[in-house]
Amino acid sequence: MSIGWDVGGSGDLDVTNSGPPAPPHGPATGRVDSVCVIGAGAAGLTAIKNLREAGFGVDCYERETGVGGAWNWRHDRSPVYATTHLISSKPFTQYPDFPMPDSWPDYPHHNQVLAYLERYADHFGLRQHIWFGTEVSRVVPVDGGQWDVTISGARGGGADRTQRYAAVVVANGHNWSPKMPAYEGLDSYGGQVIHASSYKDPAQLRGKRVLVIGAGNTGCDIAVDAAQQAARCWHSSRRGYWYAPKYAYGRPADQVNDLVASFRLPLWVRQRLLQRTLRRVVGDLTRFGLPKPDHKLLETHPIANSQLLYYLGHGSITPVPEVARFTSSKVELVDGRVIEPDLVVLATGYLPRFEFLAPELLNVDTDGRPRLHLHTLAPSFPTLSVVGLLQPDSGIFSLMHWQSVLVASWLRLREQAPERANGYWRAHHHQVGQRYTRARLKDSTRHWFEVSHIDYLRAVDKALRDLEPQS
Ligand SMILES: Cc1cc2nc3c(=O)[nH]c(=O)nc-3n(C[C@H](O)[C@H](O)[C@H](O)COP(=O)(O)OP(=O)(O)OC[C@H]3O[C@@H](n4cnc5c(N)ncnc54)[C@H](O)[C@@H]3O)c2cc1C
Repeated sequence: MSIGWDVGGSGDLDVTNSGPPAPPHGPATGRVDSVCVIGAGAAGLTAIKNLREAGFGVDCYERETGVGGAWNWRHDRSPVYATTHLISSKPFTQYPDFPMPDSWPDYPHHNQVLAYLERYADHFGLRQHIWFGTEVSRVVPVDGGQWDVTISGARGGGADRTQRYAAVVVANGHNWSPKMPAYEGLDSYGGQVIHASSYKDPAQLRGKRVLVIGAGNTGCDIAVDAAQQAARCWHSSRRGYWYAPKYAYGRPADQVNDLVASFRLPLWVRQRLLQRTLRRVVGDLTRFGLPKPDHKLLETHPIANSQLLYYLGHGSITPVPEVARFTSSKVELVDGRVIEPDLVVLATGYLPRFEFLAPELLNVDTDGRPRLHLHTLAPSFPTLSVVGLLQPDSGIFSLMHWQSVLVASWLRLREQAPERANGYWRAHHHQVGQRYTRARLKDSTRHWFEVSHIDYLRAVDKALRDLEPQS
């Protein structure tokens, strides 16, 4: 099997001059008929499965010693904490061809999500294709559309080795590299400051006065933990948000949202309907001391938390506005209040990071955002793709599944019908700025990869039909 370089819009690109210099050690050994998958989290696993089903040989490299990525709590870079449960409900999270057990709750605990991913790996026989404890340190394009992938033992162990592959699928996750805020005085602040990525257990909060900065799902979860464990909890948010409960009308909130979306109403009607539902179910947020939302529903990533308002209503969480600055021992808020927390938790999100790839290979813009066709295919390198670089309004596993089916179909078409593949590429590879949501999203790194699951799956479905082999 060969996946040639001659197809695609990059025919005139001198790929040998792109990316970091070639590694200083011996020549790459050949796996030139196979695809390299980087990472064995939810995205990497489904990529292995779908590439194998399409007939490709696959080597997956995983720096940790087990599968599951973010959901494996013991992993160095896992962002989940002891109390993490799914935010998206079970049927809206699972892979389409591998349901979660009926006996599991609507919102499984992180241990169950890991067990689910382990069962998926076992059921489809994926582990035999994974090299555990192996880190990819460099990925460089070479002539012929192939890639030299340099690997070594994780955490600096073992000598480097370079293998040559027909294609590379990056599935390294985008919820592990902390996005740090730039507050005045933060560097010289004497109190304890951690990013949410280092928050693992409510015991870290016990008896302390805690300031949680950030009102995304993680910030809300940590504020709720602090309400139960800490001596005091301030929760700082930059703006007013919509806080959806995890249930509405006795159903998981994402299922209600999906039902409303299935009526195919204009966006503004849907927004009004959902906002009215929230006003009825949740009530007036300003009664809880929260600012009024400064945007319409669906214009920021959904926050689903049934406990935040409960603890606000019990006085266990004090809502506060944005931080103005840190002094040596205090935190000043923009409304002039000054507080003295023992611990500050920065729940300020994550940024994508691809330290093994030169930025231009993923068409990374000056802000650091990769610009990819369907958030998946690198526009100048038809044999380079990313799976999992999405922020959907529901669960992500089914989107990753279809994304990797797309990658497999694309690579398959390149091999079987180069002329048709060429036509698809010429027509589509430069389409990198598409937004797969009709909502006008607030400008934030948090929304770089935000998609409506319905709009995104519709676009992938169309691409899959374009890539279908013709008999
Ligand atoms: C607190 C929290 C709650 C969440 N809740 C939900 C939810 O309710 N529903 C939902 O659908 N999603 C949720 N998510 C999103 C979650 O990130 C995804 O569900 C999913 O785990 C992402 O999978 P991934 O494979 O893309 O990345 P990851 O799970 O991060 O896996 C990436 C893998 O790549 C490996 N890797 C990275 N770099 C290298 C390298 N250079 N060499 C070798 N291996 C490498 C890593 O070790 C890791 O195993 C949540 C995220 C967080 C932080």
